[in-house]
Parts: sequence; C-alpha cells; structure tokens
Amino acid sequence: MTSWTQPIDTGKVPDSGASFDAIIVGGGPGGSSAAGYLAMAGKRVLLIEKGIWPRDKVCGDAVGGKSLSHVKALGVKETLEQTPHFRVNGILFSSPNGKEVRVALPEEDVARLEAGYSLPREQFDHLLFERVQHLVRENGGSVIQGADVTDVLYNDGNDPGDGSKDERFASGVRLRIGGRKGDIFEFHAPAVVGAAGYRCPVATALVVDTYSEVMVDRKHYCGGYREYWDGVKGCEGNIGDIEIHFVDDIIPGYFWIFPLGDGRVNVGCGMVMHLMDKQSKKLKALQRDIILNHPQFKERFANATIVEGTAKGWQLPFGSPRKKQKLQPRRMAMNGAWLVGDAASLIDPFSGEGVGNALVTGEIAARHILEGKSPMDYQMEVWDVLGKELTNSYRMQSLSRRSWLLNWFVGKAGKKPALQEIMTEMIASKEAQENLHSPWFMFKTLMF
Ligand SMILES: Cc1cc2nc3c(=O)[nH]c(=O)nc-3n(C[C@H](O)[C@H](O)[C@H](O)COP(=O)(O)OP(=O)(O)OC[C@H]3O[C@@H](n4cnc5c(N)ncnc54)[C@H](O)[C@@H]3O)c2cc1C
Repeated sequence: MTSWTQPIDTGKVPDSGASFDAIIVGGGPGGSSAAGYLAMAGKRVLLIEKGIWPRDKVCGDAVGGKSLSHVKALGVKETLEQTPHFRVNGILFSSPNGKEVRVALPEEDVARLEAGYSLPREQFDHLLFERVQHLVRENGGSVIQGADVTDVLYNDGNDPGDGSKDERFASGVRLRIGGRKGDIFEFHAPAVVGAAGYRCPVATALVVDTYSEVMVDRKHYCGGYREYWDGVKGCEGNIGDIEIHFVDDIIPGYFWIFPLGDGRVNVGCGMVMHLMDKQSKKLKALQRDIILNHPQFKERFANATIVEGTAKGWQLPFGSPRKKQKLQPRRMAMNGAWLVGDAASLIDPFSGEGVGNALVTGEIAARHILEGKSPMDYQMEVWDVLGKELTNSYRMQSLSRRSWLLNWFVGKAGKKPALQEIMTEMIASKEAQENLHSPWFMFKTLMF
C-alpha cells in the first residue's frame, strides 16, 4: 500500500479558546504553503482542514513549473519525485477543426526536472500536507482534520455587526468537529489565512459580510468536470504530453486529456459559468458526447474504461480582471485576514491552473504576516506579481471564443517551428508573454 492512501496522524485537538500566532483555514496547496512558510519562520500555527486524509480534490492534476520552487522550498520535491507520477515534456493543442500543434516544454527545464508533473491531487496534496503538518507541529503549532470552519471572529465581537469595516480586525475562527451536531471550538490569532477554496468561509466573511462586495461573478467563475480513465490510446508511459483540445461545443473552455502515468488518465472539461448558463447540456453530458462520438477521440476511448466513483464537478474562481473594479481580481485582505489561492479567486483564466498561484500567494501571505504589512500591501503585491499574466490569459481566453481564429492559429503554428518556439518560451517565461502585447511582433510572427 502506498503512503498517500493512508491516514495522517495530526495529533491532539487543542483546547477550545487556545491562541496561536496564525490560523490557516484549509489544507490544500494554498493553506499548506502559508502554514509551511510560517512554521519554518518559527511561528505557532493552527492549520485546520475540513477533510480527513486521504482525501480527493477535483482537478486536472497538472502541476506546472511555477509550483516547483515552492514544492522544493517546503521540502516535498524529493519525496514527490520518488513516488509515481507523469513527467510532462510538452503540451499538445488541437483546434475545433482537428488540427494539432505540439509545444515542447523547455528542454533544460525538463532535464532539470523543473518542467512540471501530473499526478492525482489525492497524492500531491497528501505529500504536501503530511510534510507541512510535521513542520507546524515541530514548531509548537497544532493541526486539526475533519473540522469545518463556520465563522470568523472579530475584535468587535463575533458578529460583523455594522461597525466601520476598516476598524474591524479578524481575530480567530469558530469551527465544528463531528458534523452538524458536532462540538464547537473557538481559536484565536492576530492573523487568519483563508485558504479553503472557492467556498472559503474567511473569503465570505471578508468580501461579503465585511465589505459587502461581490464574491461570485459568473463571468469569472468556471465550471469544471473530471473523470479518471484507464487505457486511453496514446496515453501509455510515464513521460510525454498533456493534451488541451478546443472542441466546438466547449470553447472558450477546453476538453483535456492529462496522463497520470501507468495508463491512467485524467479526462475533463471546463466552461465559464455564464456561458454554461446559456446552454442546456451539462458538462458531464458534453464530455460523454465527445468521448463516444467525436471523430478525433472516439477511437482512443474505444477500449478504455472509466474508473468508478471518479466522475466529479467543481468550480474554478478565475483571476481575470473584473470590469470597473478598483481591487483586482477582488478584495483579498482585511485587518487580520488574508486570502490565498482559490479563496482569492486566482486561477489562470486560460489554462485553468490554480495550484501554482495558491502556492505563490501562500508564501506572499506568510511573508506579509511575518513583516506586519497592511492588507492593502498584500492586495498590491499579489496583483503586481500575478496581474499581468492573469490579464494576458484573460485576453487569450477571449480570443479563443472564436472557432475560426483557433483553427487559423493552430493551423499556422503546426507548420511554423518559429511559432512553436515562441509558445514554448511563453509557457516557460512570463517575460516572453509581454511580446503578445506588441501587435507588430504578433503580426510578423504569424504572417512571415
Ligand atoms: C475541474 C478542475 C480542474 C483543474 N485543473 C487544474 C490543473 O490541472 N492544474 C492546476 O494547477 N489547477 C487546476 N485546477 C485548479 C486547482 O484545483 C485549484 O486552483 C487549487 O486546488 C487551489 O488550491 P487552494 O489551496 O486554494 O484550494 P483547494 O485545493 O480547494 O483547498 C482548499 C482546502 O480547504 C478545505 N476546506 C474547505 N472548506 C473548509 C472549511 N469550511 N473549513 C476548513 N477547511 C475547509 C478543503 O477541504 C480543501 O482541502 C482545477 C480545478 C478544477 C475544479
């Protein structure tokens, strides 16, 4: 039996009323990153997770190069490399008319084992959480699993009330262990990190209850659906491409085939929610149709089998810039509380990647807590670091709404090695993406 299928012993639940230096709500990549960096700096952390390991997380399971410096800094990279995974060395794109282009990931990154992996989140998150819970407990903190955080506590009492929002400080959390009728606990800290994904209770407390702002904007939220399959043709082996297919019924979203190694494959699709609202077919039915009937894929799935119990949907809060809004993509900090990862709505709106940004913002939040910076400093730094690429990806998402443009672009790119090299560079280096803003550069590259 492999270690990530085992429970994780996180020790004793602290007494209700206990105080810590920081409380982290959620033990996914964002929460593990914040908790790990704070613990490594010697802080007493309380890390709270609703699930009980081993636990699944609906995802495409691709972990991009951006994540790897944090995976390494948190002490997980070596362990991860010793467990089974699929090493990604390229991305295969196809356009609605079935044309394909393969973009190789930079050879030197692949050689240095820094290009990216795909492996089930059940495994990735287990490795990360297991390591971080050790770091937290070694540094005097505590870890609780199976605990549902229900409320944020404030310095002006438990109720957000109607005191001035900029005067209010988050000062702790209330949680329940053992289901609806379970025991209630309260814990206190001068810093609370909301890392509980798209339905994070700290995000609701901050964005909605405290600032009365919009949390869910269906133009910037995406529905996602995934299944695991065995035996999909062309997905054998433990190194190769992940596949992104722009299929007519789904654009500007896409249908993906991400191998996980040893013949298992993560297959899924996603679509922006306000577009999904306009059509009657659900993602599950759309995917079924592609697998059974699409000329490009039906042969590949002919002898494949779905892994029982793996068909699941979830939401992706995108980090695309909202129209006419001052704080982008939305408010993500207040006195005493910081949001990271999906809780701050930071998923790349073109690729759907969110693990990297969760790890990155976990580190930024930890550093701001250690340095005692203001909520606005955090908001600014996160947008400084991620804003350009998120905005750029949003542009690409908008362009990919046009079927003819995708057909034309993929057709061109398939025939032009120079364009493939540019795409390789763009995936690896965010500076190279800047070139996309230059119409002359794009014109020259596409036409000549
Ligand atoms: C279908 C789909 C495909 C995707 N594909 C990819 C991909 O291939 N690559 C990629 O990089 N990203 C992908 N993403 C995005 C990625 O899954 C997220 O961006 C990433 O998981 C965000 O990490 P996080 O730590 O912010 O949140 P999460 O991973 O959601 O972790 C939140 C944690 O908080 C816990 N929690 C929730 N509520 C509470 C509560 N009340 N109290 C305590 N704990 C709580 C949860 O149990 C969970 O463990 C995909 C998402 C979806 C839905």
